[in-house]
Amino acid sequence: MLLYIILMVPALLLTIWASIRVNGQFSRYSKVASKKGYTGYQAAREILDKSGLSHVKIQEVRGRLSDHYDPSNNVLRLSMDVSRVPSIASIGVAAHEAGHAIQQAKNYSLLGLRQALVPVTQFSAWVFNILVIAGIVVGFTFHSMGLFKVALIFLAVTVFFSIITLPVELNASSRARKLLLQYGIVTKGEDVHVGRVLNSAAMTYIAAAASSVITLVYYLIGFGSSRD
Ligand SMILES: [Zn+2]
Repeated sequence: MLLYIILMVPALLLTIWASIRVNGQFSRYSKVASKKGYTGYQAAREILDKSGLSHVKIQEVRGRLSDHYDPSNNVLRLSMDVSRVPSIASIGVAAHEAGHAIQQAKNYSLLGLRQALVPVTQFSAWVFNILVIAGIVVGFTFHSMGLFKVALIFLAVTVFFSIITLPVELNASSRARKLLLQYGIVTKGEDVHVGRVLNSAAMTYIAAAASSVITLVYYLIGFGSSRD
């Protein structure tokens, strides 16, 4: 129990903090109008077109901060708050998603690896949860080593996925900032504010990776200490 509090509570708090922060920064910079008047849609369209990706479609998607790039269909999906609003926050998010489309076009290898791991990771997370629940139900302690070792392998897959997500996200954001300036969509100075929005979004991925590593450490320590 003590181990759980020492490790898992900070991981949870970090995740909550990062989520509050990204929402706060997004709201804050949603109220800051872009000087050149670009909406998220226009910013993404311009970046895609100028990068030779006119064939990549942009669609609207429901929800808040639900923006993403779908590499299997070459579609960039933007939430309404991003797509239609001419704010620093909208432009930042839209450009970041366009950054993922450019990663795919340039065969950025980690994006491909991450994409390939999506189904494997979903399956692994599912199996891990089943094994943990099964463990609780049948009362298997850390002494049921076989089952436990298998569960750890599945957990490790999800940890690996959350770690390789980091460079992919950071790379999309740095491409976004660079291209926004290069194509004159934001001014020098505005790009610093775009950077703040994107950094706060990156923090959520860092928090997710950190808490998945901490979860793995928690189970490994539990595994080690119960062996003898
Ligand atoms: Zn992203």
